[in-house]
Amino acid sequence: MTRKKLAIIGNGMATGRLLDELIRRDGLSRFEVTVFGEEPHGCYNRILLNRVLLGGVVDDITLKPAAWYAEHGVRLKSGAAVTRLSHAAHRLWTADGQEHYFDRAVFATGSVPRLPPIEGAKMPDGRWKDGVAVYRTAADCERMRSFARSGRPAVVVGGGLLGLEAAKGLADLGMSVTLLHLFDTLMNRQVDGPGAIMLRRAIEKLGITVITSANTKAVLGAKRAEAVLLGGGARVPADLVVFASGVKPRVDLAKDSDVPTNSGILVDDRLQTVLPDLYAVGECAEHNERVYGTVQPVYEQCAVLADVLTGANPDARYHGSKVYTRLKVVGIEVASMGDIDPQLIDDEVVQVIEEKRGVYRKLIIRNDRLAGAVLVGDSSAAANLVRRFERGDPLPVNRLDLFASADRASEPTGGVVCNCHQVTEPTLLAAVRGGCRTLQDLSARTGAGTGCGSCRGQLAALLLKAGKHPATVAN
Ligand SMILES: Cc1cc2nc3c(=O)[nH]c(=O)nc-3n(C[C@H](O)[C@H](O)[C@H](O)COP(=O)(O)OP(=O)(O)OC[C@H]3O[C@@H](n4cnc5c(N)ncnc54)[C@H](O)[C@@H]3O)c2cc1C
Repeated sequence: MTRKKLAIIGNGMATGRLLDELIRRDGLSRFEVTVFGEEPHGCYNRILLNRVLLGGVVDDITLKPAAWYAEHGVRLKSGAAVTRLSHAAHRLWTADGQEHYFDRAVFATGSVPRLPPIEGAKMPDGRWKDGVAVYRTAADCERMRSFARSGRPAVVVGGGLLGLEAAKGLADLGMSVTLLHLFDTLMNRQVDGPGAIMLRRAIEKLGITVITSANTKAVLGAKRAEAVLLGGGARVPADLVVFASGVKPRVDLAKDSDVPTNSGILVDDRLQTVLPDLYAVGECAEHNERVYGTVQPVYEQCAVLADVLTGANPDARYHGSKVYTRLKVVGIEVASMGDIDPQLIDDEVVQVIEEKRGVYRKLIIRNDRLAGAVLVGDSSAAANLVRRFERGDPLPVNRLDLFASADRASEPTGGVVCNCHQVTEPTLLAAVRGGCRTLQDLSARTGAGTGCGSCRGQLAALLLKAGKHPATVAN
């Protein structure tokens, strides 16, 4: 059978996962796959970028080295940005002018940092001013590190997940960090008011200065960053200014190619765009008026798209994802899922505030099911809650049982332990019985714990229960 040509545009986490899913369905006997990646590496785990910020190299977080593609018969064009695509001609062109035919193409172009309208961040030629950076790619992290000097001031603009992570990274590099956030509470999309107060205290304990309701106006300094100017006229000194104020789907190529877009590239339940043979997956895709910014929905989309492309399950449909986020900043525990405030008149709210411990926990319950949760300061119940949230399990009469300790939460449930890779407890137990002795073994065998890493505590607990001694894995 002649193989059809499948072009995948972008080589990020969605593409890495899509390739695995295609291989699992014997998709490479059907398709001759070419991956076009603008970045110069094989696909890497973007979630672990703070390791590069702290001094590591991309190889430390690589998911698929260049050799992997060759071994699997996938053509990798790295450092090759696709600049033009013609649906009518079924062709695309890379920045070096090369033309490539495709039968089907997948946009997996991810997101780009969303920048507030700020003066002085760029030079007249459009390049970033020295000392100004964003936080999205390995190259961005290398750039941040090149300007980081211990004892010198840094400003991070954005008090969401990425901003907190960047601020902690720069503080770990010895910088004196000020975190500026436009809204009046940190992580305002994932954490409600009382939780944000606890969160702020925890961040300040790390030595990071927090300024909320901060309207960042300009980066000051003729040739390099020297300070940030705020709306009220205040100046915050900064050798390094990092923008981490959200992301937006990368739709430029799709738009220029007349593929319909809104915030993201519009797709249906099969992840197909409005044009036949063109698909979109990951953070660049908009499904049912939603775009996603975490990896689990992206992976769920990849499974459906692989089913659709290979025909393994022609009825496969993507119906949206339930979103769960967890902050990975060491020393600050935050987990959030679903609604953070009641939405309906009958919604039940359970709130527990432990001032002294700096712990805040809140549940939103609808029709006896978990509709949302916020955990700050102690997220040991997160895995338990995520399972109930995802499965829509009925809840115990005593709602406080839901905040069971980590031990109880990790009692066998038969459910999914690693959300990123959808690895279930029976799979993990089988791997342990099959000889896995350490966390590294378990992760290598099953993939569990190699995404956001938030399940590694559970993996360790599982190994300990089985009488094994998990070696610690650096975060
Ligand atoms: C610092 C950081 C921390 C994060 N932490 C978490 C976390 O803890 N948990 C979580 O769930 N998620 C986290 N995320 C989000 C997660 O990384 C994304 O959800 C995931 O990477 C999305 O995958 P993607 O393939 O859609 O996009 P990306 O991984 O961004 O990949 C898109 C790729 O396409 C390339 N590309 C774009 N346009 C073109 C073109 N025209 N031609 C060729 N190539 C192109 C880009 O260069 C990029 O390499 C984090 C993200 C960052 C930046």
